[in-house]
Amino acid sequence: MTRPRYRLFRRLSWICVQCRANHSVASNNSSPRVLRTGKKGKGGLPDGPARTRFAPSPTGYLHLGSLRTALFNYLLAKRTGGQFLLRIEDTDQKRTIPGAEERLYEDLQWAGLQWDEGPNVGGPYGPYRQSERTALYRSHAEQLISTGHAYRCFCSAERLDALARHRNQAGLPIGYDRKCFDITQEESEERAAKGEPYVVRLKADGYPLFDDLVYGKTGQNRNGGKKHLDFIDRVYEDPILLKSDGHPTYHLANVVDDHTMKITHVIRGTEWMASTPMHVALYNAFGWTPPQFGHVPLLVDKNGQKLSKRNADIDISFFRDVEGIMPAALVNFAALLGWSHTQKSDVFSLEELKDIFDLKITKGNTIVAFEKLWFLQKAHAQRFAAQGGAEFEQMVNRTCEAAEKMWSKEQLDSVLQGRTLASYITPLLRADAKSYTKPEEFLTRNQTFFTTSLQRPPYEPAASGKNASSGSSSPVVPLSALHTAAAALSLVPESHWNAETHRFNISSYDGAGAVADSVSPADVSDDEAARIAKDKAFKKELYHYLRWALSAGAPGPGIPETMEILGRAESVRRLEEARKLTMSAESQHSSSVKTPLAFSLNGGKAGGSKGANDADHSWMGSLAPKNNK
Ligand code: GLU
Repeated sequence: MTRPRYRLFRRLSWICVQCRANHSVASNNSSPRVLRTGKKGKGGLPDGPARTRFAPSPTGYLHLGSLRTALFNYLLAKRTGGQFLLRIEDTDQKRTIPGAEERLYEDLQWAGLQWDEGPNVGGPYGPYRQSERTALYRSHAEQLISTGHAYRCFCSAERLDALARHRNQAGLPIGYDRKCFDITQEESEERAAKGEPYVVRLKADGYPLFDDLVYGKTGQNRNGGKKHLDFIDRVYEDPILLKSDGHPTYHLANVVDDHTMKITHVIRGTEWMASTPMHVALYNAFGWTPPQFGHVPLLVDKNGQKLSKRNADIDISFFRDVEGIMPAALVNFAALLGWSHTQKSDVFSLEELKDIFDLKITKGNTIVAFEKLWFLQKAHAQRFAAQGGAEFEQMVNRTCEAAEKMWSKEQLDSVLQGRTLASYITPLLRADAKSYTKPEEFLTRNQTFFTTSLQRPPYEPAASGKNASSGSSSPVVPLSALHTAAAALSLVPESHWNAETHRFNISSYDGAGAVADSVSPADVSDDEAARIAKDKAFKKELYHYLRWALSAGAPGPGIPETMEILGRAESVRRLEEARKLTMSAESQHSSSVKTPLAFSLNGGKAGGSKGANDADHSWMGSLAPKNNK
């Protein structure tokens, strides 16, 4: 048999070809992927750069739905080489929450959605806070009055209330009867100049349909030249553009700003879809070309209920501060809410999303399944663990903080034995990043790393280790063979105590000779195939035993990594403790089993059992006898 050429206890460049191949597959997982980027003009993407905006009102915090809206606008701008703007729509001063604006900045930046123009960064079309643009809205309202597209309405609140009550009682939709529409320009100017309170209304004789990027031709064509004549009196929607306090309504401010800020694409929630025809009517009244609108579907829970505070449409600080979700995972999760792609995997960094985003957005409600968020959290944790960098450092820091809360200093000190907590937790996170949800859960899963008195359940051989065919319950691999292998693994000196060495030692340990004959399948005539089957059974049992010995059978990092992280002293102590605990079981079985794999810890000759590769000590690395072949 040609044996692979190994040089143990060296770095990876000396390991066997197969191991090297495996290693390069593993490390490729963290290298940049090739993504299908598609062509502009496809998936609703414009050919030129898009200017988009996120226009939150500081009446609440950023939540999952608004994060998605911000993200889609951000991605559309980035994908097309355009700009992403942030505009604060604070026209409703009464509902403004103190501090909400600052939190919005903080949350967007946490998610990585840095705006190109907006508050704090400025830009050519500022100011970017609507409360600082009142004069602009007033002058635009005046402009519409002068062109006959809008008019002043001096009706008192009492009159409008009475009108509303009257229509309500008659079961008619609310509307305005255009009483003030007939007031002449001169009278209107005069009354306004005298200080009589008024609002400005848009003269809306019907709303146009519009072409939505997601929903296609849409709009209710409200009024439509019909609804304004009913059998009691004439009624028009004529929405208010400027309130009696001189402040604009959302509709006027939104349209004026999108136009003057040169916004090309408006991506927003479907809750605004009903207002869009009115906005298009306003654009028409000004003689402006409207931007393109794309309305993104509502987020619903698994029961089809709109996400609300009760079912997790909570502000993102909950995901960040309470759940410990990382920005990459939350952003990736938000991106998948309604957007469909043709990539092989759903796991994307923000940078990757910038390259592949398009407007293939699904119509209809989007079901939010939070299992996916945890899947993405684990996937990104793995990426960060493989890449290192600031995100991984944060994982380490948060996990250290959590460990300090979960265990006393004395307990941690007894485990660390002079090592720093970060240096202990870093390889643990690297080795088990695939299960990183949040620090506390991660530590609970790996709690066997934080104790010096491991509580093990009684040892049970792996299910497949039971000697079923003989009808006896004696294990297929005798405990003495497992003890011998464990003792041999303990021989590795401190200087070479690392996962690579252990992995190599375990894999090159030939345990076939210690395995009962019943393990080899009946149809295996060839000795080599039988030996391989037995060796496989041995390895399976050995891994099972080592997991029990080293971590009480708990899931977690692989055995070689576990040994490295625990360190030599603690690993050897645990293996020895496990041996003692299973000594009595060993003596019970010793009469019914074959001679265990013979192995002498001083590197002497293995012998005895048939099939044991008695001269093969390559698994011992530099400890192997020098005359080894
Ligand atoms: N200020 C609106 C909001 O709070 C913005 C709507 C829009 O994007 O046009 O959602």
